[in-house]
Amino acid sequence: MRVAVSLVLCMMLATIPITSAQSDSSDEEVWPGDPIDSHVHMTWAALTLEVNQWADDYPEIVDLTSVGESELGKSLWVVRLSDWSNDTKLDGSAKEIVYIDGGHHGNEYLGTALAWLSAKWYINGWAEGNQEAIDVLQNSEIHVLIMLNPDGNDFDTRWNINQVDLNRNYDHFWNTCPTTQPGSSAFSESETSANSAYMNAEVPDADLYVTMHTGVWIMLYPWGKWPEQPADWELYHQIREDVNENISSIPIQNANQGLYPNCGTSRDYGYGVMGYPTFTFETDDEQFVPGSFENLNDRLGEEMDVMRYLINNVWYWRARLDVQSLEISDDEIILDVDNLGQASTINATLQYVDVSGEVTWTSSAFTVNATNSTMVDLDASNLSYSDDGMWQLYYQVRVINASRWVAEAIDVEIMDSSEDGETGFLVGYGLFNSLTTVLSVIGLAVVLKPEEEESDENCDSKVHDS
Ligand SMILES: [Zn+2]
Repeated sequence: MRVAVSLVLCMMLATIPITSAQSDSSDEEVWPGDPIDSHVHMTWAALTLEVNQWADDYPEIVDLTSVGESELGKSLWVVRLSDWSNDTKLDGSAKEIVYIDGGHHGNEYLGTALAWLSAKWYINGWAEGNQEAIDVLQNSEIHVLIMLNPDGNDFDTRWNINQVDLNRNYDHFWNTCPTTQPGSSAFSESETSANSAYMNAEVPDADLYVTMHTGVWIMLYPWGKWPEQPADWELYHQIREDVNENISSIPIQNANQGLYPNCGTSRDYGYGVMGYPTFTFETDDEQFVPGSFENLNDRLGEEMDVMRYLINNVWYWRARLDVQSLEISDDEIILDVDNLGQASTINATLQYVDVSGEVTWTSSAFTVNATNSTMVDLDASNLSYSDDGMWQLYYQVRVINASRWVAEAIDVEIMDSSEDGETGFLVGYGLFNSLTTVLSVIGLAVVLKPEEEESDENCDSKVHDS
């Protein structure tokens, strides 16, 4: 059966006019495809030609891969965009990771179009020398799975070929809400199984995940399962405020209240299991003007402005602790720490790491609120350390339990006032006293690799072969 289907698809591919995939300037933002049922409908075959053309035309920024196949054997393409001439940012730090998917529901073309445009906008921008696009691609990786449900897409139906609602099939409180057609078990479908495998294996450290749909014009953040605000409500509310004040009046709400209770969604999985800041982006339901080919930059311009804001600022969608000073006295450590990110962290600790890399001392846990400066007073009565180790902060980048842990070396001057009876309390560079013993100076820091996330293991336990 699968062989037969593949042959048919190859024949379809061969008959698609090449012009639909070309990206000359006259039709760059025109959704590729043909008018079907009053929509401009991009088939999986047209998408396949298009994304391969992107990879051929722009190998320096487009890395095309497939995360697996649909139930009928269609490749699930992921367009990976970055300036691949550098693995890191120019300063050597890790690039930010953005993950986007579209097309869970096969009849929601405009949402799938927004995923398509989110890739195309940066490709066009790069080609035209647009500085914003260049900056984003130098500092980030954007991974876009444009069409998760190609079988449903080509049959113009919400469901996949097994009549399953893919956006109820994820392993997060699966089938615990009033729902329809969630599948026989979590990840029973090859499409959702492949999507979660990709998240765990390729983008576990993403600081933004946007899943795109069509319906009521709204952006939804977790939870769908519960009416309560999520643990990282500060981050979501700050983004809502920024978007609504400066970019778009699009409503931004908790999914349970903004839409209706829903469980087993990719949004709740993305946040609750992967720890990503996650939005469902619902475009409006007007689809396309019947029989027309619209310029997507016009049709989805406002939505794209919101996406560009979320991508441009991805650096801020986590806690980012920045130590201003570290003062050590006989039995206490006073830490002056800024949080440059817009997410809080609640289980942070200060650690001492000896030359062999072993953590020999860990402070009690402390909290640093989003975009705040905090003075932390830590009990150090049991502290022992040598001069040749290093200090680091160990913390979760967001409040949600699933968010990842990072270990970040502290590279500021560390001041010890234990032998300095006169100066007492030192709070920062400005008050640095030459009498104070400098135990460690700038340059001591060695960037430790954050503890490995057990992604392989998680993957094995989460992914269920169908
Ligand atoms: Zn949908």
